[in-house]
Amino acid sequence: MAEISDLPNDSAVYKTLLESTRAIPWKIDWPTMSFSYIGPQIEPLLGWRQDSWVSANDWASRIHPEDRERVVNFCIAQSQAGVDHEADYRALTQDNGYVWIRDVVHVVRNDQGEVESLVGFMFDISERKKTEEKLLALQKELEALSFKDGLTGIANRRQFDTSLAREWESARHSQQPLSLLLVDVDLFKQYNDLYGHLQGDTCLTEIAQTLRLALVGPRDLVARYGGEEFVLVLPETDAAGAQRVAERCLRLIEKLALPHAQNPHGQRVTVSIGVGTLTPGPGAEPQDALRAVDQQLYRAKQEGRNRIAALV
Ligand code: GH3
Ligand code: MG
Ligand code: MG
Repeated sequence: MAEISDLPNDSAVYKTLLESTRAIPWKIDWPTMSFSYIGPQIEPLLGWRQDSWVSANDWASRIHPEDRERVVNFCIAQSQAGVDHEADYRALTQDNGYVWIRDVVHVVRNDQGEVESLVGFMFDISERKKTEEKLLALQKELEALSFKDGLTGIANRRQFDTSLAREWESARHSQQPLSLLLVDVDLFKQYNDLYGHLQGDTCLTEIAQTLRLALVGPRDLVARYGGEEFVLVLPETDAAGAQRVAERCLRLIEKLALPHAQNPHGQRVTVSIGVGTLTPGPGAEPQDALRAVDQQLYRAKQEGRNRIAALV
């Protein structure tokens, strides 16, 4: 086996090796922030001439504007700290396109431990990024096809539509009452403004999970109806039963006690609930029932929020 000392002490050999790889080697002199080398492969990849890479600014200005600040700040901080690092970004091509690059950077120090130069390789990772993007799109598609709400983990609108259609038919047949509850978070726009959208998402998830606890019957369902609205389907449940579940929802949310500084009801997150109970007659449609329950929800809001309004 060849020893290290057997390797040819010939820089021309290394140069040939470096310039025949698919990865693009480069070197930046740290004190002057200028390129002392970049492989000729850069030109076929990005279109910029090899001798147009002079200062580190040439590199920075050829990063996609949406990636630039993040990447430049990160690379400078890591280099100053003397830490090897890598960064993915879109490099701009001369013809106004971009190529996804992974830049792998090694920090070279002198005997005093000071940063002397940066050496690295740029890898073209466009194919990998395309695959990632395709995967993400597929994931979204799958979510649309599934019955689960991606944020809160409870049933989604699709599951609700299917469920309601089935329960509607069943109630029409059996002539048993069917109850619907629409639950809408109070002053949620202000909640987002106060605590941020991410915290808003967390709040919705906690409310969704809490509403699950209010269900009683084996076929009861809670679903995300849309945005900050939830819907409960309660088969074989009369008006009194529905009222009990609605009150349970209010109590559970009260117990959850999520802070909401601008909600006059105890500076806590509250909900309003519209309730409707009916036994579907001939010609009655689920949409009509939902509309009637929505009117009750509207009334609960009008009457001061954090309350129940039921169709009588
Ligand atoms: P009201 O008491 O009358 O219901 O007032 P509101 O502010 O809750 O009503 P409005 O319908 O004006 O606002 C609903 C807000 O819910 C606006 C929207 O940005 C927010 N929202 C909807 N879906 C989501 C979501 O998935 N995440 C977050 N964080 N906010 C959401
Ligand atoms: Mg709403
Ligand atoms: Mg609301």
